[in-house]
Amino acid sequence: MTPADIRFAADGMLQSLATWLRALGYDCTAGRELFGRRLLERAVAEQRVFLTRNTHLANDWPRSLVGQAQILFVAGETFPEQLREVVGRFLLDRERFLFTRCLVCNDPLRAAGKPEALPSLPPRVAAREEKFWHCERCGRFFWHGSHVRNSAARLRQWLAA
Ligand SMILES: [Zn+2]
Repeated sequence: MTPADIRFAADGMLQSLATWLRALGYDCTAGRELFGRRLLERAVAEQRVFLTRNTHLANDWPRSLVGQAQILFVAGETFPEQLREVVGRFLLDRERFLFTRCLVCNDPLRAAGKPEALPSLPPRVAAREEKFWHCERCGRFFWHGSHVRNSAARLRQWLAA
């Protein structure tokens, strides 16, 4: 499935999972302010798959709400297990949409020209990089430097294990 086909909402205990789903390019709502029942309500309203470790929610929350939701109980204890579980379960693409979304804001990035990015760049980056991306929400510029290559390598390790 591509990011156009599926969106997620990650419950309170799954913040690392949320960040790395965003790194893979998938829309994942998460946050310290929004979790549990309120997040599930939002997931239902926005047709998101609710990712949770809370196996009691069917007992604790209204059946009318839980019955409408698409819920995946994430079994993995560790973050790499959780990531493999979700990527495998929904056949997410591991490469094609890598780093197309802001890890902090969850917004899609757009390509930006060098003149636009230039005032925000450290001189070494400005000298070396030619392609940039921009997050409209937080205003950050991104480029595919060594941090992105290292993150991509870690992702591949986690997904291959
Ligand atoms: Zn952002």
